[in-house]
Amino acid sequence: MAIYAITNQKGGVGKTTTSVNLAAGLSATKRRVLLIDLDPQGNATSGSGIDKNELDATSAELLDRTDVANCIVNCATTGYDLIGANSLLTVTEVNLTRLGNGEFHLRDALTKVINNYDYILIDCPPALNSLTVNALIAADGVIIPIQCEYYALEGLSSLIQTIERIRQTANPKLRIEGVLRTMFDPRNNLARDVSKQLGVFFKEELYRTIIPRNVTLAEAPSHGLSVIHYDKHSRGARTYIELVGEMLKRENKLSTNRA
Ligand code: ATP
Ligand code: MG
Repeated sequence: MAIYAITNQKGGVGKTTTSVNLAAGLSATKRRVLLIDLDPQGNATSGSGIDKNELDATSAELLDRTDVANCIVNCATTGYDLIGANSLLTVTEVNLTRLGNGEFHLRDALTKVINNYDYILIDCPPALNSLTVNALIAADGVIIPIQCEYYALEGLSSLIQTIERIRQTANPKLRIEGVLRTMFDPRNNLARDVSKQLGVFFKEELYRTIIPRNVTLAEAPSHGLSVIHYDKHSRGARTYIELVGEMLKRENKLSTNRA
C-alpha cells in the first residue's frame, strides 16, 4: 500500500487533473483507491462528480478528528473512494497552523483505513501551508506535476527543501516518487528546454510519460468525470493510462531492488 501526495505550490500545473486521473486509472486496474481532496477549492471533489457543498463530512472534519469512516464517499461511478473538500477547509488550515502538533492529524486519521486501500492519493492545495505539510507527513512519496514553462523551476527549490526538512524531522520514509511533465506542447522550444533541464536535475525521478496539452483533459471535470471515464480514447486519457503503467512498473522495480 502506498500514500502519495500530489503537490506543487505553484497553481494550475495539473495537480488535480493528475490526482483524479491517477485515481481513476489505478482503480481501472482493480486497485483499491482513496482520493483525498486537501484543497479548499474542492476541484478534485467536483471533478469526481460530487457536489462539494452537499457533503456531511469532508477533509476538514477529518483533520478536526472526525472518524475517517464518516468522511469517505463511495464513488459508484468513478470506481474510487473520495474524501471531499470545500471552502470550509480554509478555517481548518488556520486552526492547524495555530496548533503546535497539527501537522500529524492526517497521518493519524488515516491509520485506521490504510489496510482498506492499495493507494491513497492526496490532492494538495497550491501552497506550502499546514495542509500540504499534513499531506507530506502522511505520505510515502510525492508526485510533482510540473508545467514546462519559464517559471516552472522557480519555487521548486522551496518544495524540495520542505520535502527534505520533513524527511529529516517527521517522516524519514518520504521520497520523491516521480516528477511529471504536464500540459506539454512539443512545438514550444522553451517547453522542450525546460523538459531537458528537468531530466538533468531529476534523472530517473522524472517520469518518461509526458502529459500533453489536451482539450479533453480540461473538458472532463465539467462533466464530473475523469478523462478515462469521459473519453478513454482521447490522447489525455491514453497518456494518463500510460502513466499508471509506468508507476506500477517503477514500483515493481523498487520492490525487487529492496528484496
Ligand atoms: P490549483 O493549483 O489551482 O489546484 P492544479 O495544479 O490542480 O491547480 P489543474 O486544476 O489540474 O491544476 O489544472 C489547471 C487547469 O488546466 C484546469 O482547468 C485543467 O482542466 C486544465 N488542464 C490540466 N491539465 C491539462 C492538460 N494536460 N491539457 C489541457 N488542460 C489541462
Ligand atoms: Mg488543484
